[in-house]
Amino acid sequence: MEKISVAVSGAYGRMGQEVCRAVLEEEGLELSGVFDRQGLGKNIGMVLGRQDLKISITELTDESLKKIKPEVLVDFTTPMAVMQNIEIALRCGVRPVVGTTGITETDLSNVGKWVEKSGLGAIIAPNFALGAVLMMKFAAMASRYLPQVEIIELHHDKKIDAPSGTALKTAEMITAERKEEPVERDELLKLPGARGARQNKIHIHSIRLNGLVAHQEVIFGGPGQTLTIRHDSLDRSSFMPGVVLAIKEVLKIDGLVYGLEKLL
Ligand code: NAP
Repeated sequence: MEKISVAVSGAYGRMGQEVCRAVLEEEGLELSGVFDRQGLGKNIGMVLGRQDLKISITELTDESLKKIKPEVLVDFTTPMAVMQNIEIALRCGVRPVVGTTGITETDLSNVGKWVEKSGLGAIIAPNFALGAVLMMKFAAMASRYLPQVEIIELHHDKKIDAPSGTALKTAEMITAERKEEPVERDELLKLPGARGARQNKIHIHSIRLNGLVAHQEVIFGGPGQTLTIRHDSLDRSSFMPGVVLAIKEVLKIDGLVYGLEKLL
């Protein structure tokens, strides 16, 4: 069986290195190229603490991608870089699998148009952890019966976007599912932002602390009771089964798929 050729952008970053390891360990996948703006020229094998893989980190451009011609480009970079990377991939006939968060509604609609024009498939998922996808599904289900809900998302202190893509996606799924909206009441805020950000009347609180990886609690309230649904990614390896699944699935789809739950 031919192996799927995979390139990784953001390969020198925390998630990118984990993706490179997952691709190297998965039968049926082949790591063919690595891109980043850090660690340029470094051998990815050495970066991962392995043997010389004869693959060096280069900048992602049309030329560098065409030279490698992978079937899939996995992107874990930054909100500032991701749109250009997706555009390059699609222009070069490469299917993007994107985990980078901070992608806006407008960005999504633009990617949708580019994907359609390219005739290829693309997957964007704000959370590749299967447990997190279940947490979002369970939260959407609970919101049918308990409309009052707040989200607390907790991440490591290097995360630059807030709220997290997972929190926004959870709020979107709850909004689509719940039958009634909670009643809003006047509040006296003694400090601005004390009640967090708000999306469709759902308060979202973002915590950034060293020591955390990626965690989320969705807390529902009803008369005399609360229900808490919590997911914890304790290690970046939690995202890898979802990434590997997306790499395999993106070859079978046409158009843009947003959210890993659509693949389960
Ligand atoms: P990170 O360690 O900062 O890695 C990102 C890497 O991408 C850095 O080396 C960065 O370089 C590089 N980069 C920036 N612009 C680039 C470009 N134009 N082309 C190629 N590489 C570029 O961050 P991380 O912790 O790995 O997280 C990466 C992204 O994944 C974030 O958006 C995070 O929220 C997201 N994430 C998603 C999931 C999920 O399941 N979907 C899970 C965890 C994290 P510089 O340092 O120079 O910017």
